[in-house]
Amino acid sequence: MSSDRLTVLVAAYNEADALPLLHPRIVAALEAVPGLDGRVLYVDDGSTDGTWEALQRIAQGDARVALLRLSRNFGKEAALTAGLDRIEQGAALILDADGQDPPELIGAFVAKWREGFDDVHGTRVARAGDGIVKRSTAHAFYRVMGRLSRTPIPADTGDFRLLSPRAVAALRQLRERHRFMKGLFGWVGFRQVAIPYERDARIAGGSKFNLWKLWNFALEGITSFSTAPLRFATYLGLATAFLAFAYGMWIVVKALRWGDPVAGWPTMMAVILFLGGVQLIALGLIGEYLGRLYMESKQRPLYLVDEWRPGDAPASAPDQAATTCRITAT
Ligand code: UDP
Ligand code: MG
Repeated sequence: MSSDRLTVLVAAYNEADALPLLHPRIVAALEAVPGLDGRVLYVDDGSTDGTWEALQRIAQGDARVALLRLSRNFGKEAALTAGLDRIEQGAALILDADGQDPPELIGAFVAKWREGFDDVHGTRVARAGDGIVKRSTAHAFYRVMGRLSRTPIPADTGDFRLLSPRAVAALRQLRERHRFMKGLFGWVGFRQVAIPYERDARIAGGSKFNLWKLWNFALEGITSFSTAPLRFATYLGLATAFLAFAYGMWIVVKALRWGDPVAGWPTMMAVILFLGGVQLIALGLIGEYLGRLYMESKQRPLYLVDEWRPGDAPASAPDQAATTCRITAT
């Protein structure tokens, strides 16, 4: 029987409690799909709890499991990139380590892939595990993003998705430092399809993203995929200049017809403060983009690898000989 290779990619940061619960579910789901050569790749994103030990225990009993450990915490987007870089064959399926993306759906994802889709993504119809603040800010974010960006980014869709081999290869070519994965997936294009699912609560541990991190994440998304804020500053400037000109004309006309009894200190203060504020906002906007340009220009690697343990299942990746290699830059 021809078998399709699928690697389940899980980025984990301090998920020692969740991973042992999640792994059997992934394995069961992979085994339930006929004709599938299922693998699992865990990326330890610089965890400080027992995550690496837990992963080693999981890998010991299972030759299909590969492990990658980064030199420190680089963040989920970099961890996923590191994992995708190691998937040299077949498709990839990205899953959260906390069980919020149910592995039981793997069969449905693979079915869509076999129909010929390149990007099968899970779209949340319910978010049982998330509070009202997270739900509403996430909702607003996807709407704003959709308006500002010309890259199609499906709403209410996270990183839970299956990527065909050519989508993985395409994604690997995008080496930008500021990585907004949801946008990069959309940028790649190809044939996309959504699978609606209900997002469960975490099986263990707490969320790694607080509101401040999410706000920065939103900024990242908007600045990476849209220059609309810069254009907004231009239009704001134009509108202000136009209003100022009209007002100036009115002052001249007024002074000519009725004379000019010196007054208007409040108006002047209001105008000065308003303009000062507008200029600072515009400067800040430019700064956001300039800062990102600066980081991008350094050309640093996206992550550093501490340890790489490919799985030792038969017919594994070409670089099977190397069991561990330390500090490889990518
Ligand atoms: N994660 C990661 N590196 C980080 C933060 C998070 O690899 O710096 C992983 C985390 O282990 C989990 C996934 O990203 O598998 C999603 O994180 P979390 O569940 O905390 O986010 P939420 O679901 O609350 O948005
Ligand atoms: Mg989660």
